[in-house]
Amino acid sequence: MKKILITGGAGFIGSHVVRLFVKNYPDYEIINLDKLTYAGNLLNLTDVESAPNYRFIKGDITDAAFINELFQLEKPEAVIHLAAESHVDRSISNPMEFVMTNVIGTVNLLNAAKESWKGNYPQHRFYHVSTDEVYGALGEIGMFTESTSYDPHSPYSASKASSDHFVRAYHDTYGLDVVISNCSNNYGSHHFPEKLIPLAINNLKNNKPVPVYGKGENVRDWLWVEDHARAIDTIFHQSKSGDTYNIGGHNEWKNIDLIHLLCKIMDQKLGRTPGTSAELITYVTDRAGHDLRYAIDSTKLQENLGWVPSLQFEEGLGKTVDWYLENVTWLENVTSGHYQEYYNQQYEYN
Ligand code: NAD
Repeated sequence: MKKILITGGAGFIGSHVVRLFVKNYPDYEIINLDKLTYAGNLLNLTDVESAPNYRFIKGDITDAAFINELFQLEKPEAVIHLAAESHVDRSISNPMEFVMTNVIGTVNLLNAAKESWKGNYPQHRFYHVSTDEVYGALGEIGMFTESTSYDPHSPYSASKASSDHFVRAYHDTYGLDVVISNCSNNYGSHHFPEKLIPLAINNLKNNKPVPVYGKGENVRDWLWVEDHARAIDTIFHQSKSGDTYNIGGHNEWKNIDLIHLLCKIMDQKLGRTPGTSAELITYVTDRAGHDLRYAIDSTKLQENLGWVPSLQFEEGLGKTVDWYLENVTWLENVTSGHYQEYYNQQYEYN
């Protein structure tokens, strides 16, 4: 029996990681620790909530006393840390919240692990889930590798870079068994519709303008969220201590090309005349400090641990659209209340 504390398990990626571990490892005990911010939603986990090897604990990683007590009471043997503030736009308007959750929250967990696992570090593992945005922006060519220097530009990526540094420092200074992975942009089901793909699906479905920053020239590498969860499973079980892995889909898309593909899929799924959805594309004032291009080289993960992405992008996007069209209650739930307020202040239409 292995007791694993997964933080942020009610969020987008966290819920996929929780689901995979609960289903694939019936002899592990999975504890999902989540504050349930606007981005955390227990409706993401209805299919596993009554599994005998799953428990949910509501709590805040920025509360050091609570985290220490939790470690004393529960004695988790490993941590998979995903809890974070994750939206770049929100980090631009409220950077301190990102420092608190992403930096202080991570250090609170590291401290609790350091104390609770003292004398026995090799028997435990602290897995930190991070982003490729810590590496900064690329020009037209090149890819991020595990040895690319950190060069974060947004308050979000700066807070994640800082947390990565702390995780490595606890390995180098105290000997904690840590692993870090840096992943490209994820897409798939249960994604909060403030991010590009679910926002576009929701707006296209409701015949509302689809905001595209600047000229839509920014390039991102997209990975299906379930492939990310599988990569985390592989790395958690097979990586050596102190190692880092990049995770990505070798799947670069300009935002505007991605939106056009999504429009084509939405026209097909909704039985609209081809071209109808694309008429809703609306350019808006660019995000401040918007990184031009991210591209991640996941060769190390593929060659050392044998992980490969399972889905082609068009197929994955089709599945994602199907999920949003089928899960009307989920979508209505998360887009009610504060969502509208946030949405209305976010986009300045040109
Ligand atoms: P998300 O915003 O969907 O979920 C974050 C979760 O953390 C939510 O459930 C939220 O309630 C919880 N949380 C926030 N503050 C908390 C606190 N103080 N205490 C406890 N729980 C708290 O984020 P996501 O997209 O699922 O990202 C998960 C992790 O993966 C993050 O660390 C993010 O940096 C990283 N990541 C995300 C992507 C991506 O494309 N979404 C890519 C690479 C890495």
